[in-house]
Amino acid sequence: MASVSIRNAVKTYGDVGVLRGVSVDVEDGEFVVLVGPSGCGKSTLLRMIAGLEEITDGEIAIGARVVNDLRAKERDIAMVFQNYALYPHMTVADNMGFALMLKNAPKQERDSRVARAAEILGLNKLLDRYPRQLSGGQRQRVAMGRAIVRDPQVFLFDEPLSNLDAKLRVQMRGEIKGLHQRLKTTTIYVTHDQIEAMTMADKIVVMRDGLVEQIGAPLDLYDRPANMFVAGFIGSPSMNFIEGRIEEGAFAVEDGFRLPLPQAGSGSGYSGLPGGNAVYGVRPEHMKIAEGGAPVTVEIVEPTGSEIMVMGRLGSQPVTCLFRDRLSVRPGDVLSIAVDPATSHIFDPESGRRTNA
Ligand code: ADP
Ligand code: MG
Repeated sequence: MASVSIRNAVKTYGDVGVLRGVSVDVEDGEFVVLVGPSGCGKSTLLRMIAGLEEITDGEIAIGARVVNDLRAKERDIAMVFQNYALYPHMTVADNMGFALMLKNAPKQERDSRVARAAEILGLNKLLDRYPRQLSGGQRQRVAMGRAIVRDPQVFLFDEPLSNLDAKLRVQMRGEIKGLHQRLKTTTIYVTHDQIEAMTMADKIVVMRDGLVEQIGAPLDLYDRPANMFVAGFIGSPSMNFIEGRIEEGAFAVEDGFRLPLPQAGSGSGYSGLPGGNAVYGVRPEHMKIAEGGAPVTVEIVEPTGSEIMVMGRLGSQPVTCLFRDRLSVRPGDVLSIAVDPATSHIFDPESGRRTNA
């Protein structure tokens, strides 16, 4: 096992900057998830760690060793891809043992390592099959088995669950997490799915457009997002953003509605907001029905059984509420919605930065 340290990593193709100075520290044994919208540079960063892509500037170290100039083979990492990349003409056992064969490991060692990985992944009965005889989930397990057999210092995963259906994805998510709890191998996992990031990570790195927006534990990002991008990206359904102004100790929405202000951050309070304009952030699950709240006119009601999602409007602005209780709500109803300032946020509308404590 080893730590991974990425310092100011830059990647350009011609004059296009794909990574524009990314720094991330992954501790020994940690499970770190890189998450962000498609095209933000996650795969590029992972491939640079793996040695499949050159680093334009900056430094990547695995353990104490700077690996910028080391070839992929010499880095002692194993990568699992979205498309599994199994050899179709080889059995499961041969797919899993292939890397060891290339290293001229003795057959006995190869067999015992493959058997151990197969045991961990529940593949014992499938060792003689070919990839075409396996389901998507089984193929993904073989791809992981191939990584485990190598007993690398670091596992890299690039969207390994994207090709699986929703139910299997949830199951494999649990399996990968369980695997990490057993093996404790340092892992860097790429996904565009914030739920995967939230449920699997010790630490999440939120990326956008070649830059890191925020790094933190899942619930830190959920409770204390640094800015509107992270606030909107983490959590489902997304946080509501309501435009308005700070006036006389409250947040004033058009049409005279008022919402309670959370405590201001240290320094000059909310006085630095441009022209007093601000964005009020509140998650759908933090909107409660209570007397004396703000009127939300219901437009769409989506019951899922365990909860009810209500889309509506506060004045002219769209809002989403998520209720855990069974309610009978219909389009056209007006709900009185209260919010707790302790779970609300105030953002600067120009920089997007969160300004409350
Ligand atoms: P992600 O994995 O987050 O979806 P990628 O790392 O694959 O994003 O890509 C980041 C950006 O880099 C994208 O805009 C992509 O078009 C660009 N890119 C990736 N590879 C190349 C390449 N070989 N040449 C030019 N641009 C590339
Ligand atoms: Mg990618």
